[in-house]
Amino acid sequence: MISDNLHEIINGLPSGVKLVAVSKFHPFEAILSAYEAGQRCFAESRPQELEMKVKQATDAGKNDIEWHFIGHLQTNKLKMVLPYVSLVQSVDSIHLLDEINKWAKDNGRKVDILLEMHIAAEDTKQGFCEEEILDIMFAYSDGKYPGVRIRGLMGMATNTDDKKTVSADFERIDSYMAYLVDLFPELDSFNQLSIGMSGDYEEALRHGSTMVRIGTAIFGNR
Ligand SMILES: *Cc1c(COP(=O)(O)O)cnc(C)c1O
Repeated sequence: MISDNLHEIINGLPSGVKLVAVSKFHPFEAILSAYEAGQRCFAESRPQELEMKVKQATDAGKNDIEWHFIGHLQTNKLKMVLPYVSLVQSVDSIHLLDEINKWAKDNGRKVDILLEMHIAAEDTKQGFCEEEILDIMFAYSDGKYPGVRIRGLMGMATNTDDKKTVSADFERIDSYMAYLVDLFPELDSFNQLSIGMSGDYEEALRHGSTMVRIGTAIFGNR
């Protein structure tokens, strides 16, 4: 089942688009099934659950898994997350950015992150507005955050069946991404646009997605 789902999704992705398998709330056995089918990149949204699964993976000898963090991250949980992940997709406040930068300096690391942009109509969803992202990018390009590498933007579209709304949300983040790439041509690792989940990734692919985060369509309902 999981391997069929995976292969169907992978076959529909253009080359160069990365599949991030969102394994949150699913047991480690589900991760193993996807792993056996060839998947190596997984994302979790809760620090404790991430820690537990990293340990299970290590115990199972699956040391080549690439973990991403996609949930709201509290700064008192950084040490449960940052040692294990290759990308924090959900940086949604200056405070979090400052603390990740500090952790990285203290630990001799550079942490890859995405800035989460608020594009949905719901205000329950986290993220920066355009102006905040622009301020961060100017500070970053001035060398203010040496502990992080900002790889791009992440966004979640409005949770609706209305394709026009979803498409407009994705269009907004896609064009903002293009604007930033233009504005900061020297930042050549700023090139990732993480948009698209189970219900809307095909739409996201039409709007420049380089990374889709898919859970339900691989692992079933949570
Ligand atoms: C849970 C989650 C996903 C995956 O959602 P599905 O609809 O199950 O594919 C993607 N991105 C984020 C940020 C999530 O929290």
